[in-house]
Amino acid sequence: MNDRYDHRRLGRELDLFDTDPLMGAGLPYWLPDGAIVRHVLEEYIREAEREAGYRHVYSPVLGKRELYEISGHWDHYSDDMFPPMELGAEQVVLRPSLCPHHALIYRSRSHSYRELPLRMAELGGMYRSELSGVLGGLTRVRAIHLNDAHVFCTLDQAVDEARAALKLIARAYADLGIKAVRHRLSLPCGGGGRGKYVADPELWRRAIALLREVLDGSGIPYEAVEGEAAFYGPKIDVQIADPAGREATLSTVQIDFHQPERFDLHYIGPDGAKHRPVMVHRSVIGSVERAVAHLIEQHGGAFPVWLAPVQLLILPVAQAQRGPAEKLLHRARRMGVRAELAGPEHGSLGARVRAARLVPYQAVIGEREAEADGGPAAVRLRDGRRPGAVPGAELVARIAARSAARAPELWDAP
Ligand SMILES: [Zn+2]
Repeated sequence: MNDRYDHRRLGRELDLFDTDPLMGAGLPYWLPDGAIVRHVLEEYIREAEREAGYRHVYSPVLGKRELYEISGHWDHYSDDMFPPMELGAEQVVLRPSLCPHHALIYRSRSHSYRELPLRMAELGGMYRSELSGVLGGLTRVRAIHLNDAHVFCTLDQAVDEARAALKLIARAYADLGIKAVRHRLSLPCGGGGRGKYVADPELWRRAIALLREVLDGSGIPYEAVEGEAAFYGPKIDVQIADPAGREATLSTVQIDFHQPERFDLHYIGPDGAKHRPVMVHRSVIGSVERAVAHLIEQHGGAFPVWLAPVQLLILPVAQAQRGPAEKLLHRARRMGVRAELAGPEHGSLGARVRAARLVPYQAVIGEREAEADGGPAAVRLRDGRRPGAVPGAELVARIAARSAARAPELWDAP
């Protein structure tokens, strides 16, 4: 692939994330600028979910071995799990998915049909024991933070919920500038897959029929591919591609009859009797690791204003302009704009401008600019345009407005 867009190289160059052999392979840590991108992305997704009627929970990254025996992970997925830890007479496991925890949270309270669909979301940690040979960057990791949710609903509601999840995915992709290359209906292997999947042909048949209904009704073109299903059910995968054209799954939507059976979930229907809910599993942006890796490559490190770690860099030409430069810095931060100041101690003006080539806005404050109280500043945009002298207050308000609106454009077209 074109190395210029490799997220591992850009991640190092931009100080976004890194790894240390002592922390371990596949266990990246996030540096302050990368942490900002992740934080903004996480807040975006939580807000979109709240708006769509989801409520968020937190659950622990560990669970007892029995939990995964019930969910079926132990029988069908243990190759991808970390070995269990002995804890007194018990064994605990780093979780390979959030589903079992959410099933238990649902089960902990009784539910009436009036509460359904109940949409439970969490941005939570999970672990996968990938082989060390394949680890790297943010795309092959052992610690994963998943944007996950489970909708507990009646059978009649499942198709609408899955379709609404696809809409939420499409909206997020539009806001983030992510392009789906195709939708895939992931089915089990034709031959049964020898222990790879839970065996219940009737449940598989029903889940596949419903997912086809979801896709056909949405008018989204898709391909059915055998051998890509989860062990407990079929899924819709939304595929993305890196600049070299390599495909990966970012988002998923599943309709699941298996976990509600295994955990004996129910709700009280209008008839006063117990009924089995359906679980719709869905992830809008997948793991934050893969999502940020994709965003880095997609934008070549030049994040849209609302995601940029630093939105405005303030550059006093000489020490004499430090006072007005600091005034502008504080004004920007008060308005919620992520601003930094790089003074002459960081080198010549040209060197400072070049070092910040991916920062969307730079405000140069020279002798002339400093004379007028509080600005104006000579504005330079990342794309090379120079809109000229703009009063400090106006510049900050513009950036704040563009960021809040998630506008893709840096400035009005000339
Ligand atoms: Zn799930």
